Amino acid sequence: MNLRAVKNVLGRFRHYSTRQKLFDLSSPNLTISSLIVALVLGLTVLSLAWLANRATQLWRATATLVVERRVDETAALLVTALVRDMRGVQETILMPLATEHLDLDAPYEITDRVARAFARFPYPESFFVWKPSPDASVLFNRADRPPEWAKTNGTPAAFPVALFRDSPEPGQLADLAANHVSPGEEVAVFETTIAGIPYQVITRVFYHGIQRSEIFAIVGFTVNLNWVEAEYFSEITDQIERMAGTTSAAGAYSLSIVDQEGKLVTQTQKSNGDGPFTEVEFPLAFFDSLSTPGITLGSDPVQRWIARAAVADDPLLAAATTGASRTLALILFAILASAVSLLLAIRLWRANFDLVATKANFVQMMGHELKTPLTSIRLIGETLSAGRFVSERSSMEYGALVSKEAARLSRLIENVLTVASIVDSKSVYKMTNVDLGELVTETLTMLQPQIDEGHFDLGVEVPGSLPEVRCDREAIVSALENFIVNAFKYSDHYGKITIRVVHDSRYARVSVRDEGRGIAPEDLPSVFDKFFRGKNAGFVGSGLGLAIADKILKDHGGSISIESTRGVGTTVTLNLPRDSS
Ligand code: ADP
Repeated sequence: MNLRAVKNVLGRFRHYSTRQKLFDLSSPNLTISSLIVALVLGLTVLSLAWLANRATQLWRATATLVVERRVDETAALLVTALVRDMRGVQETILMPLATEHLDLDAPYEITDRVARAFARFPYPESFFVWKPSPDASVLFNRADRPPEWAKTNGTPAAFPVALFRDSPEPGQLADLAANHVSPGEEVAVFETTIAGIPYQVITRVFYHGIQRSEIFAIVGFTVNLNWVEAEYFSEITDQIERMAGTTSAAGAYSLSIVDQEGKLVTQTQKSNGDGPFTEVEFPLAFFDSLSTPGITLGSDPVQRWIARAAVADDPLLAAATTGASRTLALILFAILASAVSLLLAIRLWRANFDLVATKANFVQMMGHELKTPLTSIRLIGETLSAGRFVSERSSMEYGALVSKEAARLSRLIENVLTVASIVDSKSVYKMTNVDLGELVTETLTMLQPQIDEGHFDLGVEVPGSLPEVRCDREAIVSALENFIVNAFKYSDHYGKITIRVVHDSRYARVSVRDEGRGIAPEDLPSVFDKFFRGKNAGFVGSGLGLAIADKILKDHGGSISIESTRGVGTTVTLNLPRDSS
């Protein structure tokens, strides 16, 4: 190692050490605190997510409760309206009648009351009055919807009542009523068919005197059950649906009536399926069945139908549902974000952990690599400075030893400095046109002392005409030097080493082939890692040579390929692109 080389190395050392730290090792404390921060962050996000989820659930539950209440109210409203309407004729027309209203010769009073009933209530189809002595009857039909069986001759009265005298139906219905009423009782209700059409008939029995043993008259009205099923309920449900929709301002409801067999009689609109609904039973009775609960229609019990209210479209529920799904999406996103940040923190932690391990390796390696040559140099220095006699031959040997150890130190420092510099940027490269043949010769000249010391069969194959390659001469020499020194080291300074330069249209390649120890297959993927040393490595070496060479070649747009068989040898090839700039 001459004076220029020493100055060169020292100069570079000063240059790099002032420009940057050689290794920036993060403190493990910092790593642990960042891990704790990440964990706390993750936990906070998770608890926030849990709270948000709870809040949305409560919101949904509250909205459902409110809607359930509205549905309950709507169902109650429907049933109340139905029941009130269905007993209206009995309550407001039939029961207030008195015997003096039943003058059949001049039936003005009764006709007037029937007309009022037809106007206010849609369901009575006919009224009738029958008297036993003398046997006389009057039938009052709706003029706008006369019963199909009304073939009786008679004089239609003024609209809306068509009045018929002495038709057979009032007498037949009065007979049935008399059969259904217990002696002295006032109200008889029953179901029958007239001309094949099912009817519910509500009658009131008037008696002579207070003993109530002799019938004075039977008055009643008929309700066509076919018509009821087809027309009556849809009118009322439509009305209630409109009322419920406008008063609660809470969207649309579906109201339906279901008969005793479960058949849908009418439905205002379809329900949304999964929302709350309420069902309330009501009697299919056009009379006051609530005040006389045990009442039967003759031998049959009163049918129980169902009024059903459900949500067709409720904005409150819809808002709660969309709100819940949006919050769920946000929660999932938050969980994902916290998971990613946790993963990143763990990766950072592991990277820092590796760095700490690397630092320890590095210090150990540096200790060993610096100590060994320095001890040799110190011993030789002490021997020479003690003024002990040394032969000319010994002093030459000492000189060679000092020079060899100094070269080793210089290589180590060069490698460390190169690691530091190549971490920085490519700007440190000085690109020139280089003849690779000359570059090989220059490298071998630098390594001449080691070649002389070993027992190598060194072969160099360089083609006659070689194109120049643009590269940083010093950097490529350094890479090649590392390859050749490795070949020496791992051939145990003995054997055949071949250096060959070849080129094709895209690359110029320099390969160094040895017949040494070779590399274990499991070590091959790691040989370019910083500070990696293979199983075959022994004590001498820093684990930096190939890492540095790899970085240099990559910075030049090239690569290194390595082939090795344990016990057979290794070929390391440097591939430089010919148009590298
Ligand atoms: P070192 O200072 O250990 O030689 P390098 O980065 O130069 O570091 O090489 C990394 C590892 O690759 C070495 O420890 C060794 O196991 C393996 N290696 C490199 N070159 C050769 C070779 N020519 N023959 C056998 N093993 C090699």
